[in-house]
Amino acid sequence: MQTPDSTSPAAMVIVGAGHCGGRAALALRTAGWQAAIHLVGDEPHHPYERPPLSKDLLTGDKTAEACALLSDADLQDARITRHVARVISIDATARSLTLSDGQTLAYQSLLLATGGKVRTLRIPGGDLPEVMTLRNLGDAAALAQRLKPGQRLLVVGGGFIGLEVAASARKLGCEVTVVEGAPRLMGRAVPEPVAERALALHRERGVRVLLGASPQSISRTATGVRMELADGSNIEADTILAGIGIEPDLALPQAAGLAVGRGVLVNAHLQSSLPGIFAAGDVAEFPSVLSGQLVRQETWHNAETQAAIAAQNMLDGELASYASLPWFWSDQYDHQLQVMGEPALAATSVTRTLDEAGGMVIFYMDADHRLVGACGWGETSRVAKELKLARTLVERRITATAEVLADPATKLKSLLSRAA
Ligand code: ADP
Repeated sequence: MQTPDSTSPAAMVIVGAGHCGGRAALALRTAGWQAAIHLVGDEPHHPYERPPLSKDLLTGDKTAEACALLSDADLQDARITRHVARVISIDATARSLTLSDGQTLAYQSLLLATGGKVRTLRIPGGDLPEVMTLRNLGDAAALAQRLKPGQRLLVVGGGFIGLEVAASARKLGCEVTVVEGAPRLMGRAVPEPVAERALALHRERGVRVLLGASPQSISRTATGVRMELADGSNIEADTILAGIGIEPDLALPQAAGLAVGRGVLVNAHLQSSLPGIFAAGDVAEFPSVLSGQLVRQETWHNAETQAAIAAQNMLDGELASYASLPWFWSDQYDHQLQVMGEPALAATSVTRTLDEAGGMVIFYMDADHRLVGACGWGETSRVAKELKLARTLVERRITATAEVLADPATKLKSLLSRAA
């Protein structure tokens, strides 16, 4: 067993070998850190990107290797020591942590990039092997095995994971039902008018979508499984996928004495309440750059951009502040949806029609007509360019009236020079 040695050179330790952890490890080396970098995580794989798990990886259009962020060679070149283990405890006073394999690591700075645990269906029968979740490469491989033509898939949860898997399963020739507890789809982060268009598209593509439906229990039948709903009806299926969100696992940071809320609480520099400890990615609850309110973001963009800021601040230099606007996308069939900024902060909104096939962007403005967010939707090939421009407009927080934004004669590009 290795014990921390005060004479050994300082090390950087990152807990969580996912997207954010992997990116942060590389960024530390790129920024010039010379001594040890330890990347600890319990998944057997090197860091990889998760967005393809519910899409191209499921449909077989992308391999697991193609999702990898770091290869063996990258880790070697960057001299990153990878530990496939769990962190059992953190001693914030001694600046050391203990791993499940018995090792102890001393740190100068520590980054928690531990992401979240997938929520499971807590109803009778929710633990049957036909009831699956989707969070990692192993889950995706197991689900893909079952999505054969004619198979009946029942998705619980009409959020991003649920709807993306529904679209992938239709592409694979499955019969798909989506059961959503709320009265509408994607209620956590997508404005209603776009959620309505997504609902129409799923129905058009043959998905049976039940809203306001509450699963009560699951039992085995002669041919598969049956889910009982609260209204007394039931649905038969071969496989059930629970896409009902994730929750950060806060037991470790709490035991270490870190302040937590819905995630590990950090300031704009991604510093936790204890010296030398940072948090980033899905697990971090941080002040929004637009509103100052504490938010947690479970997005590719957040993992990517917070990793860079955390790495910079773990080194003893000038502290950088996290100032990136929220951004996420979801690909469903040949359509894409994007949300940028914080639509919830808006005083007014206006819809701009992008094409005759239903493509649109809703722009959200504060009381001074400054853009605080946008939400776009449409056929990817038709709207991609416009959504990119919309994102730049929101990032620059340009000022424009509803009339100008809605007017098809206004080129979005022409507004770029109006940066506030
Ligand atoms: P994910 O990233 O897994 O898609 P989201 O939070 O975006 O997570 O979406 C999860 C969806 O699941 C939400 O729309 C929520 O209303 C729905 N949901 C959560 N629990 C249940 C449940 N027991 N039955 C049906 N729907 C549920």
